[in-house]
Amino acid sequence: MRIAAEVDRELPGLETDARYREIEARMRRHAEAEAADFVARQAEAQQRAAQRAAARAEAEAQAAIERERAAVEAAVRQAVACEDCGRERSAGLCEACDHRRQTEALIGETGLLAATWSADPSDPIAVAVVAAEVRTAIEDAIAASWAQFQEITDPVALEAAGPEALEDAAAHNAFVVAESAVGEYRHEALVMLGRSTEAQAEARKAYTTELAKPWFQALPDSDDAQRAATEAAAKAQTRTAEHLLAVRLEQLHAQARPEPVRPAPWSQRLPELAARPLDGEALEVIA
Ligand SMILES: [Zn+2]
Repeated sequence: MRIAAEVDRELPGLETDARYREIEARMRRHAEAEAADFVARQAEAQQRAAQRAAARAEAEAQAAIERERAAVEAAVRQAVACEDCGRERSAGLCEACDHRRQTEALIGETGLLAATWSADPSDPIAVAVVAAEVRTAIEDAIAASWAQFQEITDPVALEAAGPEALEDAAAHNAFVVAESAVGEYRHEALVMLGRSTEAQAEARKAYTTELAKPWFQALPDSDDAQRAATEAAAKAQTRTAEHLLAVRLEQLHAQARPEPVRPAPWSQRLPELAARPLDGEALEVIA
């Protein structure tokens, strides 16, 4: 036993009774110390558990506050009227106006797509004429599509849906028509730019280059050689058309949204005047 050995080592030569009493006393002290230690550790564990529970409760309360605030914010946002038409509870922009804006952007883009091949991109009037023609064509298509929609839809259902739903449907219809117009006009632009002198020249060059390759040189009229040359020519033509479209669109976009001209600082425009003190005479000169 560890305590008996300890007593024998520290207090050698004790009488048997005294030795037992000493051992008993030390065992009691040891047991008491262990019990106290156990109680302390338990109290510590309880305290830690209480702290964790408090932290959890705090986090839950915070999350609840956050959720409530987010719900209030969402409700406030949702309550904001449409900035375009004033429709209430539209989160700032109603579905119909959102579609109208997108339709407007698509019509603008379609006009530019048509102008890439049918107008001189550097002539703003010619570009504007093309854009106006495209707008009329798309608006006619939208009207026709809407008339068709109304024809095939049960008038009772239309009536029951209410004016807002009808407006949403019309705006959505316009958006769908404009979106498909962009695709069609883009395709047409690529076809027309493919017929440009640049694209034709690139195609001829690719055709000749292909036939000049060592493995075709001997038999330039063979089916293989002709097929490969025709393919190379078509690829070059498409590539050039795409390149022309990108370049011209960029040019047209830049013209449609001119960079705001910021006046140079006064000191740069008229350094000699800026150097003078601004007395009455100098102000007259500036005026
Ligand atoms: Zn609106």
